[in-house]
Amino acid sequence: MRTEPPGGHEATAERRAARKAVELAEPIHILGAGLSGLAAAATLASAGRNVHVHDIREDSGARFDGDFQGIENWTSDADFFDEMRDWGLDPSEFKSDAFDVIDLVHPDDVITQPSTDSVAFRVVQRGTEGHTIDQGLKRMAIEAGAEIHYGTRREPGDCHIVAAGPRESSAVAFGEIFHTDHPNHVTFQLNDKLAPGAYSYLIIIDGIGLICTCLWRQQRKSTRHLNETIAWYEQHYDLNRRPIKRVGGKGDFGLPTRYVHEGRYYVGEAGGLQDFMWGFGMRYAITSGVLAAKAVLGECDYETEVRRRLVPLVRASAINRFLMNRVGNRGFKMVARYWMWNQSRKGDGLAFMRWLYKPGLGRRTIWPMVRLGMLRRKQLTDGRTVHRMPFRKALKRDIWEPGARAMEIGEEWRSVQRGERMKPRGESDS
Ligand SMILES: Cc1cc2nc3c(=O)[nH]c(=O)nc-3n(C[C@H](O)[C@H](O)[C@H](O)COP(=O)(O)OP(=O)(O)OC[C@H]3O[C@@H](n4cnc5c(N)ncnc54)[C@H](O)[C@@H]3O)c2cc1C
Repeated sequence: MRTEPPGGHEATAERRAARKAVELAEPIHILGAGLSGLAAAATLASAGRNVHVHDIREDSGARFDGDFQGIENWTSDADFFDEMRDWGLDPSEFKSDAFDVIDLVHPDDVITQPSTDSVAFRVVQRGTEGHTIDQGLKRMAIEAGAEIHYGTRREPGDCHIVAAGPRESSAVAFGEIFHTDHPNHVTFQLNDKLAPGAYSYLIIIDGIGLICTCLWRQQRKSTRHLNETIAWYEQHYDLNRRPIKRVGGKGDFGLPTRYVHEGRYYVGEAGGLQDFMWGFGMRYAITSGVLAAKAVLGECDYETEVRRRLVPLVRASAINRFLMNRVGNRGFKMVARYWMWNQSRKGDGLAFMRWLYKPGLGRRTIWPMVRLGMLRRKQLTDGRTVHRMPFRKALKRDIWEPGARAMEIGEEWRSVQRGERMKPRGESDS
């Protein structure tokens, strides 16, 4: 027999409604108004929760400065924009350009073209302009009812969700943004000299280009890498480049032992959810923000969901990174050739990228070696333990003198900084 509370069903329903009202009014605090924090805020506010987001900077996207970034479509069979729509996030709130083909530059300068029938990735812009992904997610969060407090400091211990982005550097990237007449295009270059341990890329969208080099080994004079990379692209593409600005940033790669610590949910790069291999962290950031929000709403267990959906991908990327760290241009050439061979066999250039992130038996077997050989245990000030990938030291082969055109590019950039007009190439002094 069930005991009826005093007042019967009506009173119980009223008490439930009152409890719900208190729950909805209780503020949820999120640290960081970047991709992961805003995705969490939009999801929570849409569910009627009282959400406050605190960011140390003056606006969402202020960590970036108009850089183009690619949201990948290879770590899941589901298209990421379909996933976003399922979560109630509207990808048409920001500008994106889908790509199904790229130029792949091998270390010996051979250029091939991986392609797919579907969407391989979408290029979005980061920053504070209205069409950026940062501002699109900000609008979604505000329209759902979240309050965002910029230029504020708050202790992580006073927040339910920590979404404050990278803390330390395991790798860095430098780029130049420029005007160009070249049509929309993406090139991905594997080259251990121009981009030590990593890759460089060229992205052109609607007359604006970005050439970026990623350094997975610490370098003393790192601008020489960017100048030399720009010289390479100028030689191989008709860019008619007019520099606008130079940009840069860091990536923090580490696996924490827990994703929920003292009741707080760690999302995005603050939670170590980043791609060790190539730094494609945006999809992990948005996904983990949504999962944390769902956990706050009682719809899932964050630790379990992150371990099921994201940690296997991060681990696979860490294993790939461990292997990439062991090779130079000869190994990069093998990767590029295998990618193209795989495409000719499977008829889809994306199959290779999907395979790279599959946590198969082979990869799992070498995981203990990766933990021991590449990651360093670190106790963070908030009490969490993280197995971090330290920024690697330079190698002997990283010492080289810049070429003549790279030196000119460096000088041209200094004159742009001084506000002088850059002479188009080929224009004489007379
Ligand atoms: C140069 C570069 C190129 C990249 N290219 C790609 C790419 O092509 N594809 C891709 O998928 N990923 C790319 N990434 C990685 C991607 O940008 C990140 O993984 C992603 O932005 C992480 O999202 P997040 O929410 O964790 O952090 P962010 O989006 O950086 O947001 C963190 C927010 O927290 C705020 N914050 C920081 N500290 C505090 C504090 N103490 N208190 C309050 N707020 C704080 C910051 O101001 C910021 O607004 C690139 C990164 C860099 C640097």
